Amino acid sequence: MTNYTFQKDVSVYDSTDILVVGGGPAGVAAAISAARLGKKTILLEHTGQLGGMGTLGNVSVFMGVGNVVGIYREIIAETMPDRLPKTHTESIKPQFDPFIIRHYLNQKLAKEGVNVLYHASFVGVIKKDGLVSGVVVNTREGLIAIEAGIVIDCTGDARVVIDAGAPYTTGRDEDGLTQPMTLMFMMRNTGKPVKLYLPEDGYFYEQISELPQGRRLFWEQGDEGTLLVNMTRVKGNGAKIEDINYAEKEALRQVFSVANYLQRNGFENYALTHVPGQIGVRETNQIKGLYTLTEEDVTSGRRFDDVVAQTNYEIDIHSPDGKKGTDERHVSGYDIPYRCLVPQGVSRLLVAGRSISATHVAMSSMRVQATCYAMGQAAGVAASLALDDQCELADVDISKLHSILKDQDVIFLK
Ligand SMILES: Cc1cc2nc3c(=O)[nH]c(=O)nc-3n(C[C@H](O)[C@H](O)[C@H](O)COP(=O)(O)OP(=O)(O)OC[C@H]3O[C@@H](n4cnc5c(N)ncnc54)[C@H](O)[C@@H]3O)c2cc1C
Repeated sequence: MTNYTFQKDVSVYDSTDILVVGGGPAGVAAAISAARLGKKTILLEHTGQLGGMGTLGNVSVFMGVGNVVGIYREIIAETMPDRLPKTHTESIKPQFDPFIIRHYLNQKLAKEGVNVLYHASFVGVIKKDGLVSGVVVNTREGLIAIEAGIVIDCTGDARVVIDAGAPYTTGRDEDGLTQPMTLMFMMRNTGKPVKLYLPEDGYFYEQISELPQGRRLFWEQGDEGTLLVNMTRVKGNGAKIEDINYAEKEALRQVFSVANYLQRNGFENYALTHVPGQIGVRETNQIKGLYTLTEEDVTSGRRFDDVVAQTNYEIDIHSPDGKKGTDERHVSGYDIPYRCLVPQGVSRLLVAGRSISATHVAMSSMRVQATCYAMGQAAGVAASLALDDQCELADVDISKLHSILKDQDVIFLK
């Protein structure tokens, strides 16, 4: 294989205290909490919208995690006040409108003083004296550089950590396989029978057992008759070029086929109304952090002194070999420690969201959106504290972190 060394002068576009890469649940919350502590904050988002999988991938239902706290609670209060639980320890599973959340997050981040750069993709880490000091970004104007005191990797793929040369893992221990991908879509009740459509390469599903997941899985909680469908399944790792290329095409083929099946089996009046622009990716890479969350931590309900998020979302592993079936196991509730967000072997870089340090099984539980918002919020506060106290991210004062999180309406169960 031939390798090229790519060298180019790149102008500094801006300098910031905290740079967040990726505008999904984790990145949005990290940017908000950092900006609230008076830090100049820039958020880079690869696409034209915030919300990550929730909006981009139409994953428009927040799974219940046993609590509704902090920035996640604020989002519910401001977008779905009728769903806001009275206490912080009730679970809710609201289906939401991804278009409203997309618009809401644009406004919210602007109000919070976060400078969001859309269509801005992380390309590489800049290091000075071995320390992360900024990033190179691909934008609509070509490559730019942004200098930063601390970078928070919320790409979901640990893209920044990997580029910085820090260790990471992918998928299951035994074979590296990750959970499969799913293209979620929406259908709407039109009040009259719709015309059936199946593309030439479509699948004519007759039995439930023939469906890609071997089951019917959808939500219809809104008054307006919107059916949110999670029934496609494509094996592969969404951080690999070949896998994602195949998955985007195969998943769309399945979308038309599943919609056709539903229209013949109980949803005769429902038209296909929304297919998002990209497939949903559940699992890719996990950093190797100062602590790795394990299956045992999750199943034993372990508590940690440096807790930053709590959840009781189940173990939920869609079969990584692409076959039917899902490993679902009840979980009573556990803590995610701060150390899972701190990568080994690199300074000034923190991680939040689904790519924190966790085993394949533990990841399947901690990955849902409310938990990612919670981890992001804690990462923004920790980064801000590290700058104030001029300390390593690994040495952030946990009592100060907890005290600020409490001020930001995060309440931990003992
Ligand atoms: C099919 C599917 C169904 C799911 N079902 C549910 C559910 O029902 N309820 C629930 O709560 N959760 C569900 N989840 C899980 C949840 O949606 C994700 O785990 C969660 O969104 C992860 O949040 P995140 O912020 O870590 O990453 P993501 O949501 O993946 O966001 C990462 C963001 O980073 C951006 N990015 C990536 N690379 C770069 C780069 N190089 N430069 C700049 N930006 C970049 C991306 O564009 C994206 O906006 C589901 C996930 C999938 C895929």
